[in-house]
Amino acid sequence: MSQAILEISGLTRRFGALRAVDGVDLRIEDGAITGLIGPNGAGKSTLFGVIAGEYVPSQGEIHFAERRISGLTPDRIFRAGLARTFQIPRPFPQMTVLENVMLVPLAQSGERFWNNWFRASAVRAEEGRLRDRAMEVLGFTALAAKAADLAGVLSGGQQKLLELARVMMVDPRLILLDEPAAGVNPSLLESLIDKIVALNARGVGFLIVEHNMDMVMAICRTVVVMAQGASSAKARPKPCRTISASSTPISAMSQGHSRRERQDPHREPSVRRLCARAPHRP
Ligand code: ADP
Ligand code: MG
Repeated sequence: MSQAILEISGLTRRFGALRAVDGVDLRIEDGAITGLIGPNGAGKSTLFGVIAGEYVPSQGEIHFAERRISGLTPDRIFRAGLARTFQIPRPFPQMTVLENVMLVPLAQSGERFWNNWFRASAVRAEEGRLRDRAMEVLGFTALAAKAADLAGVLSGGQQKLLELARVMMVDPRLILLDEPAAGVNPSLLESLIDKIVALNARGVGFLIVEHNMDMVMAICRTVVVMAQGASSAKARPKPCRTISASSTPISAMSQGHSRRERQDPHREPSVRRLCARAPHRP
């Protein structure tokens, strides 16, 4: 059995009487792309929130890279290499795309008051490195041309790419993506999937909540099903060549996908291209 990067045991998160996450046990392989599917309200986003430290678990434990992270603050979990993006992107709309990315590294020396007086050149050098790294990740996510634009004017798909660019600043080992395909047009979705696959080839793992089953089947090595707060099944998707344009999405999970989208005649070739580059390991 390959090594686990994330191990969750007996994890519960209550909101009053509601057990949004209810005794979840989960083991995520290092360097894999794992899908997390389930109907709306199943507790997927809450599970991400608990893993990333936004919600304190009511019960249970989380280990990341063999270190207990349950109860740590979100910034410590982020700096440990576990990053998440949000179902609804949260950029700072009045700041530029570049500024949004440069904000990410925590504890920059320029933020410490005395450094600005006594270590001005060191701070400038650090800012230069930060800017170079930010431009590198913007180049990777095909957003370099938008660096000077306000983040608020980006399309929904570009905002998802910006979220990916932001988390790439910390060289994460595992990225939690919450509905990356929702509201993204087909060509940007292809680009987003390219980036996920390319990062995965460099060893970055992903846990992806997604309703678009073509995407899940094409890129995920393993799929976990969640319902009513509990993870109920784990399966290996069949090889993606069996996917047809009519295979998506499962009706119970299809909120957010219009009928027109599902019948889009351009989708099948797009899915074929996806399959051609899918990182399937038997
Ligand atoms: P999913 O992402 O699978 O659609 P969520 O994790 O968003 O599901 O929600 C799971 C359940 O928890 C839902 O019933 C939702 O209304 C509830 N819930 C989510 N966040 C909160 C919160 N902050 N306070 C109270 N209830 C919440
Ligand atoms: Mg959700």
